[in-house]
Amino acid sequence: MSKVIVVGSINYDILSTMRRAPRAGETVNGDTVQLMPGGKGLNQAVAAAQQGLEVHFVGRVGQDMFGDRILSFFKDKGIAATHVGRSPDEATGSALILVEATGENRIVVIPAANRQIVPADADGLPIRAGDLLVSQFEVPRDTIATLFARARAAGARTLLNAAPALDDAPPGLWADTDILVVNETELGHFAGVELAGDATEAAIADAARRLFRRAGQTVIATLGVRGALAVTADAHVLVPGRKVAAIDTTGAGDCFVGSLAARLAAGDDMRDALRYANVAASIACTRIGTGTAMPTATEVLAAM
Ligand code: ADP
Repeated sequence: MSKVIVVGSINYDILSTMRRAPRAGETVNGDTVQLMPGGKGLNQAVAAAQQGLEVHFVGRVGQDMFGDRILSFFKDKGIAATHVGRSPDEATGSALILVEATGENRIVVIPAANRQIVPADADGLPIRAGDLLVSQFEVPRDTIATLFARARAAGARTLLNAAPALDDAPPGLWADTDILVVNETELGHFAGVELAGDATEAAIADAARRLFRRAGQTVIATLGVRGALAVTADAHVLVPGRKVAAIDTTGAGDCFVGSLAARLAAGDDMRDALRYANVAASIACTRIGTGTAMPTATEVLAAM
């Protein structure tokens, strides 16, 4: 069976709620604190594994308590972590998230061990035709480029979630990406165009086509509540957003990417995989959190 391989970031999220965040030099009391596995790579791997696919992770944690917890989390979720290394000199990546009563948040991401992921971390992991390699920009871009080239040479497909919007990717990475997933902000950034919140499908498709580097690529623009637009050289198709009572949209993009990857690796065509990912992400919006918000295949199928 084909598998999903996520070359991705792992962060331990430390989320605290408070009436208001401290100013410089000030100390305040918070109300709650929650510790949970996160990071775009980890979240996407969870979303994919929940759909019943074989998922392998390539990444790094530190030799610390958070690293131990991440490894047992992967075990619980059925994600193969034989290629998750333990850095001798860096901590497990983390994110400090301060949420004020108004909902306003402040986030500090400390990449730590994620910075050290190198192509050799994937050595010994067979990449075969039919497999799908997935990555995001919280991993060194050179590493992604090398592994994407390796995957394509093996006949596997590549899916890049170019988030956050960083400009240091080697040019070859764009050409070695089969499916590029970006949200509207990232699309505007990489295409170098201003996209208003009510941009037309044609305007979004025009911007997406600026990101093509060779024939046969697909750009998928996720549009929040509007759904997602898949753009190829000669066509674009909108999968409209599913109406839900959204309470927390953090992680919706990761749910979308992971579910899409799972269905594509399972053999769905792009349209079916998009419809599925769109419903999965809408369910994630009705739940608090990221990793804990990812729906199972049974839940997605019941909602379709
Ligand atoms: P990101 O969270 O990365 O900015 P988006 O906001 O575009 O990405 O959301 C990703 C996907 O999640 C959308 O394409 C859609 O499928 C789903 N989604 C996001 N917000 C909502 C919402 N309010 N209602 C229904 N689905 C949503």
